[in-house]
Amino acid sequence: MSAACIFCKIIKGDIPSFKLFESDKVFAFLDIQPLSRGHALVIPKYHGAKLTDIPDEDLAEVLPVAKKIAQVTGAEDFNILQNNGRIAHQVVDHVHFHMIPKPNQTEGLGIEWPAQATDMDKLKALFEELKAKM
Ligand code: AMP
Ligand code: ZN
Repeated sequence: MSAACIFCKIIKGDIPSFKLFESDKVFAFLDIQPLSRGHALVIPKYHGAKLTDIPDEDLAEVLPVAKKIAQVTGAEDFNILQNNGRIAHQVVDHVHFHMIPKPNQTEGLGIEWPAQATDMDKLKALFEELKAKM
């Protein structure tokens, strides 16, 4: 828990939320500024800013809950989004997974996807480097 964190305050109940789910490790609620109908946030109760700050066991339930919320919204198309760091569009520094229904072209998540050209030599060198550390 972080005393200054808005999502920790939501978990504690000090700030109200439209709570959809709660367990020992996970909390889920509607996003207050939705990109589309059903936009919800699933968060580990464990406070940490980035995904890499959260123990594995606190993450295990997150995706099943996001899946359940996707199902109950009836969304056929949707995005699961998890931002880490300001430049990556993170505003709230408590790890959260967005479940964002994509009902049409204008509502839901808009994505820029600046794909780079395939470079097999570069990919192979990177692969060797990362594989050795896994
Ligand atoms: P991010 O840009 O990934 O950090 O997203 C933070 C999200 O938290 C935004 O979609 C906000 O609308 C949402 N948010 C901020 N404060 C609240 C709140 N009090 N209740 C529900 N959602 C919130
Ligand atoms: Zn927090």
